[in-house]
Amino acid sequence: MTAKPAAAPKMCFDRIVSRDVMRPHLTTTGPSGMTRAISPRGKTWLNASTLRVRFMGGSAAEQATAREQACWWMDYANLTFDFGNVPDAEIRITFDANDGAWSTVGTDSRTVLPNQPTMNLGFLDGGTAGHEFGHAIGLAHEHSSPAGGIRWNEPVVLAALAGPPNYWNEETTRHNVFYKYSLDQINGTAFDPDSIMLYAFPAEWTKNGVATHANDILSALDKEFITGAKMYPKSGAGPAAAAQLAVGGDRVKADIGKPGEEDLFWFTAGQDGVYQIDTRGKTDIYMKLFGPNSQTALIDEDDDSGYGLNPRISAQLLAGDYYVQIRHHERSGTGKYTIGVNRR
Ligand SMILES: [Zn+2]
Repeated sequence: MTAKPAAAPKMCFDRIVSRDVMRPHLTTTGPSGMTRAISPRGKTWLNASTLRVRFMGGSAAEQATAREQACWWMDYANLTFDFGNVPDAEIRITFDANDGAWSTVGTDSRTVLPNQPTMNLGFLDGGTAGHEFGHAIGLAHEHSSPAGGIRWNEPVVLAALAGPPNYWNEETTRHNVFYKYSLDQINGTAFDPDSIMLYAFPAEWTKNGVATHANDILSALDKEFITGAKMYPKSGAGPAAAAQLAVGGDRVKADIGKPGEEDLFWFTAGQDGVYQIDTRGKTDIYMKLFGPNSQTALIDEDDDSGYGLNPRISAQLLAGDYYVQIRHHERSGTGKYTIGVNRR
């Protein structure tokens, strides 16, 4: 007689936007050791942003739990959550018990239609809401690290997740569990078995006996990572201290001092038209454009469309103020670059 198998743990998934599915994923083996709490490049909000949160349902108790756990991050990250009822809130939460727990990752929430949720809290066990808010501010899963050292026993995992309470098909399990971000796509530090962004799964799911436990609070490394240069340091003044770019004016010299660091710029588009923003130099960086007159409305993002490894964005813009976020690629050298904006 075989024992009745234990129910698989409740899993959370990142809601993947179509742009990511189209991106080629490398499967490079990472350097020795494991990496941890990872942020896929290009998902972070501007440092010091205010993210508006709207509940689309849920009981008072459910909403209170979500709010409380969101604030775990706010204590460390240089971000503010503003709970209210504005229709275009960056984070929109449903509590559909039949839809599991999931969230879009960081600025990807801007690709979701305004009448649709960007997060669902179908269950609120332990630190589930804290975990989902980790996604909402740009964090991915710990086990998605390319250097994670986890060798999945794929048939066992596929079978376990095909049953209750997840009912995932093979494609969903492959994407949410086996998929690994390429080293070029992530920011990360040392592996953290206590991260709130790690799935709990049993040892029989892996060929090398790796098991993890559920983590219901932020770990020390979660706090350190979220407040570091790669994410949302409290020392950064954010858009209030952004350097101004003059349209058609001299290029501005800038310098990346710390790996993963963010620089912020702003410019005024005096009239509607096509504008081009680009960087030059040997420093490998990633660009995002927000506006008009908004620090969270993402217009476009780019990696290497310009000279060499430089980003370049050309976009039809309405008159108004715009913010440009420049993020350093962690794995390349730091250093100088220039940035300019022109009307075409
Ligand atoms: Zn998750």
